[in-house]
Amino acid sequence: MEESYLIKPMLDANYPVIDYGKGVYLYDLDGKKYLDASSGAVTANIGHGVEEIIEAMNAQAKRVSFVYRSQFTSEAAEKLAAKIAEMTMGDLNWSFFVNSGSEATETAMKIAIQYWQEKGIKTKTKVLSRWVSYHGITLGALSLSGHAGRRARFIPLLQDFPVIHPPYCYRCPYNLEAPGCEYLCAGELETVINRVGANNIAAFIAEPVIGAAGAAIAPPQGYFHKIKEICERNEILFIADEVMTGFGRTGKVLSMEHWGVIPDIVALGKGMGAGYASIAAALVSDHVMEPILNGSKIVMSGHTLSANPQTCAVSLAVLEYLEKNEIIKEVESKGYYLRNQLEKLKNEFEIIGDIRGKGLLLGIEFVQNRERKVPFPRNMQLTKELVELAQRNGLLIYPAGAGIDGIHGDAVIISPPLTITKREMEELTRLLRKTLQDFIEANLTNQGE
Ligand code: PMP
Repeated sequence: MEESYLIKPMLDANYPVIDYGKGVYLYDLDGKKYLDASSGAVTANIGHGVEEIIEAMNAQAKRVSFVYRSQFTSEAAEKLAAKIAEMTMGDLNWSFFVNSGSEATETAMKIAIQYWQEKGIKTKTKVLSRWVSYHGITLGALSLSGHAGRRARFIPLLQDFPVIHPPYCYRCPYNLEAPGCEYLCAGELETVINRVGANNIAAFIAEPVIGAAGAAIAPPQGYFHKIKEICERNEILFIADEVMTGFGRTGKVLSMEHWGVIPDIVALGKGMGAGYASIAAALVSDHVMEPILNGSKIVMSGHTLSANPQTCAVSLAVLEYLEKNEIIKEVESKGYYLRNQLEKLKNEFEIIGDIRGKGLLLGIEFVQNRERKVPFPRNMQLTKELVELAQRNGLLIYPAGAGIDGIHGDAVIISPPLTITKREMEELTRLLRKTLQDFIEANLTNQGE
């Protein structure tokens, strides 16, 4: 493209211009085909160009696209809220619609604080979280995020919420193994609560599987039981940030189902609109809504476009599509298949240190010494180069953070649409193998490695 006034993530980069998408593939204006192995940013969960969704989009647009939520409700918004209540576990029944994952976590945080206020407790205003986490880019959500790179420029404006280690077993800060470790990293929550005082803490927030900041770090089996037990004993709400994991990404509607732990509030986004609509939500349990319904009867949050009929109708069509085609049921077995393929690559490439994740949210962490888990030097920018090489080879993978306590690692997320077939997973693996070979040829063979 010639002159452009669009502010893109990298202003000096030459982005291909996309033309259209179909299934797991995207095509640019030069006719180049890409296998979308990242679903964009873990978003296009049902693939591109699905006719039913486009029909639902048009049908709603013909009726009405926008009404303001303090003047009207709509069939689309009511039906979507009912569908989410039906699909999700426990008493998670109330939806507050917003437009992005950042707004969803921020709204969840505000509802948690309001919950305690409605109960007459005004001091519970802090929200604890973990280092190696990402909850969004707006200032409240960024305050919750343990993501050094994204916080750096705005530190004076942020609250210091992230406090405890994540269950990053590959680089366990205690050098222990689960379950023998007794989840000391979860136990840190209790230590911090004792220091800060439960009376000052409204909630603890965590991603079930850590995405952008840690490249698909899934916790060991008993981890979230311990977290929930500590939260309950100390009267602190538990918020699950399922913006990346929700609606099937790991093989369940909510990932917390894997561990049988029901959160008090859930943040949802990405897969909810699957890229067809900008929609996200704070999903709130009956017991958290109760004092609000009996108290001020107003949730003090919201955005102009919250709960607009257009995005709600599209999201409803996405969720119905997931159900009708029984897509979520297949995710775990597809995830095993793909993970197995990635494990084969690990046997071929010494630079792969760890393969991890759950369902179709998989991560690969790279190291220059596998035994000692030594990361590559930061100035080598391995992740960036690998992602660029993959794109050149017609493969889209998602750059993610890795490392902890001063260790800066390289990692990517592999998260294709949940609709991917076996044949397409094999193609994905072939393209990834070629990309790793290209990377080694360009960077490591010259140095005699
Ligand atoms: N929470 C999690 C777990 C996420 O992965 C993201 C996005 N990567 C967000 C929140 C923020 O969502 P958004 O980019 O839609 O604001």
